[in-house]
Amino acid sequence: MKDITKFTPMMQQYLKIKEDYADAIVFFRLGDFYEMFFDDAITASKVLEIALTKKEAGQTVPMCGIPYHAAKIYIQKLITKGFKIAIAEQTTPPGKGLVEREVVQLITPGMIIDDGILPSNEFNFIGSVVLSEYGYILSYADISTGDTFILDGLNKSSLIDEVKNLKLKEMILSNKSDTFLIDYLNNNQILMTIYTINEVKNHLIYKNLKTKEIKEAAAILVNYLNEESKLELNHLMPFNHVKVESFMRLDHQVLEHLELTESFTNQIKSTLLYWIDKTHTAMGSRLLRYQLTHPLKSVETLEKRYDFIEAFSLHEPRTKVEEILNDIYDINRLVGRISSNQTHARDLLQLKNTLGLIPKLKQALSMYQNKLVDSLNNEIHLHEELYELLDRSITDEPPLTIKEGGMIKDGYNKELDELRSIAKNGDLWLEKFENEEKERTGIKNLKVGYNRVFGYFIEISKGNIQFVDESFGYIRKQTLANSERYITETLKETESKLLHAKEKGDNLEYEIFQSLKEETKKHVHTLQFLSQTIAQIDLYISHAKVAEIYKYVRPKLNNTRFVDIESARHPVVEQHSEFISNHITMKPNQIFILTGPNMSGKSTYMRMFAMIVIMAQTGMFVPASRAVLPIYDAIFTRIGSSDDIAGGKSTFMVEMVEANEALTKATENSLILFDEIGRGTATYDGLALAQAMIEYVHTNIKAQMMFSTHYHELTKLQKQFELVTNLHVKAIEQKDHMVFLHQVELGASDKSYGIQVAALAHLPETIIKRAKTLLRKLEKESSQLDHNIFMFEEKIELDSIIPKDVQLILDQINHINIDHLTPVEALIQLKYIQNALKDLKKD
Ligand code: ADP
Ligand code: MG
Repeated sequence: MKDITKFTPMMQQYLKIKEDYADAIVFFRLGDFYEMFFDDAITASKVLEIALTKKEAGQTVPMCGIPYHAAKIYIQKLITKGFKIAIAEQTTPPGKGLVEREVVQLITPGMIIDDGILPSNEFNFIGSVVLSEYGYILSYADISTGDTFILDGLNKSSLIDEVKNLKLKEMILSNKSDTFLIDYLNNNQILMTIYTINEVKNHLIYKNLKTKEIKEAAAILVNYLNEESKLELNHLMPFNHVKVESFMRLDHQVLEHLELTESFTNQIKSTLLYWIDKTHTAMGSRLLRYQLTHPLKSVETLEKRYDFIEAFSLHEPRTKVEEILNDIYDINRLVGRISSNQTHARDLLQLKNTLGLIPKLKQALSMYQNKLVDSLNNEIHLHEELYELLDRSITDEPPLTIKEGGMIKDGYNKELDELRSIAKNGDLWLEKFENEEKERTGIKNLKVGYNRVFGYFIEISKGNIQFVDESFGYIRKQTLANSERYITETLKETESKLLHAKEKGDNLEYEIFQSLKEETKKHVHTLQFLSQTIAQIDLYISHAKVAEIYKYVRPKLNNTRFVDIESARHPVVEQHSEFISNHITMKPNQIFILTGPNMSGKSTYMRMFAMIVIMAQTGMFVPASRAVLPIYDAIFTRIGSSDDIAGGKSTFMVEMVEANEALTKATENSLILFDEIGRGTATYDGLALAQAMIEYVHTNIKAQMMFSTHYHELTKLQKQFELVTNLHVKAIEQKDHMVFLHQVELGASDKSYGIQVAALAHLPETIIKRAKTLLRKLEKESSQLDHNIFMFEEKIELDSIIPKDVQLILDQINHINIDHLTPVEALIQLKYIQNALKDLKKD
């Protein structure tokens, strides 16, 4: 504890503030700077790469500072590193003694309103988690846009997936004992606070929420935001209650593997979002990203989205609407800033300009002459009154400050006009006054002058003093050697007007601005509604455009679990190179075993299928010439290349964790995509595990599955199981190289082509030749060994497709409670399973 009395009064003031904001970096306003002291200064100077200096404040104190007008970039830097910032402003005007200071805003990664800090096409969510009888309840909000959501019925892993998929920036927990979550947040440097006040106050925001429990869960987030941010947050919209069951399960692995919104390697062009986002507004773009990470299960909703895409596809009105959308500002964030008083006149100007486009937008939309488009168009209101008010009042180039005038147009406010004309026309007025006085008094050499001590005065030379009459109302002010100086009531009044006109004008403008802001706030909710409607229009137009330029088709959804996709393409790969399209036809419960040489296109085929499913269930058209699809309740993948070695797990461990997720959570309505599973371990182990998994999915889960493999032996399963079908990717072997046709056909491939691929990679000739010789020898040997590989196959009993002892092992795998397993325990379990499998083979 610092002995506070040793410091200067100002530093004592600082230390008192810091006491309340120990976990934040305090920005302490000092004139034109925000200063930071002590440890804050040391940390901030490092992160911000600014000079660390010292201040004499009773004792020497480390200090660093930033100019207040450039604060944004520094705040952004600190926030992205996970710091909290408390902004302490001067709350009394500078004068005698110590200026009072107070924290007026707390900025944290999840509590940012300011424009220019946040990326426009992404939400910035803060979330809160409560555990209920029916699972976890996650509420989340973006205070910059006002969007609020609540999701209930989550289990541990779907909660973590949601936290990842939504990219939550900050979390409020009501319970210290959720260690799995706390560990995750800590490991990922996500700011976290324990907070429990769940009093339900403002009822409007909870109006969509049914139960007390859900309301209270939401209230924790709302109360925290209101209390901590210190901002007026009337723009938070009523909570949107979303049910876990309405979404297709998309765990974060899938989202990552498929590079839907983000790329492994930070190459934006490898993400699906990059190619399909043709939106023109920030709100449209945010909506698209949100929908893409939240595929749905409701056929009705999806069909409606498809209908809208078709409705918006007409070419001519579309380009017209697009042109208008281009000029529309981010209404949600404008409203957010206005509503929370973090705003300036430019926001009002941008709002006005946006509202000015609405009549044109409505006009263009009516050109569609389409019922669905009209239904959206009818929801768009002009906000004429607000537009006119802002149009009359706000200048065309207002400054970014609100205390220095220049915001309000001439002619809007009489008093302001007068003040301005006084300031501008002061000289003219004085000249006129002088002439009038000369005439009134008959004193020809009367002069009006000014000095700093006495202000304005009327000067009359010695010779003329005798003519000064009492009726003039002159009051003597100063006597000089050759003249007398006087003032009059009028002159005094004008003087104060003149001198204070500028200052008064600025203050008056500030007041007018405040009242315009308050007036605008009355429209917050209808403006947000307008924003949402525009977002939808923007989104559908983007989808329609994408469907046209990339030749996507409307999916036909069925509930019979049949897949029939003609000429399917991978939406991202086809943007980078010529793509060979493929068909996908799949019966319920069918399992494809996909073989083919390395680099032939197995992974691409599987990813393509997953992408098409997700696009269809997002409500988009899909890259194919025809697509009949079921509704999946989940996609599970184990698709290569995510060797999460940096994450501390070995490849094989990652494989097994991901496989386990699928094998325990999938239903018959799920889609499972396993790409080369079992590669991370010894051949026989891998092979055995792979076969056991296929059998389990076939017999117990009955889900559709694609399984790509380099284990040729697995293709034999086709003979045993009716619904297991072999596919292979075609490649032709030419004299000394391979030609990949990327065509997927029925049947197993005849062999693996590793050596040919090596030749493609220009490995030295001698190595290739030697390898070919060795291969021939190995092939000969293995054909003799062949029937030994799957000795346990022979043990299959007639009444069960899976041998009993294998089933026993599988049941054990099935009953492992992954959530309560440490990595070490998991490895031990695995070893145990492995041994059991080895024992089987020995038998
Ligand atoms: P595998 O998984 O069989 O090793 P990949 O799916 O990784 O092969 O594909 C190898 C390469 O071939 C990739 O660069 C991919 O872009 C390309 N490719 C795959 N399928 C196709 C296709 N149908 N048309 C064009 N190129 C393809
Ligand atoms: Mg592959």
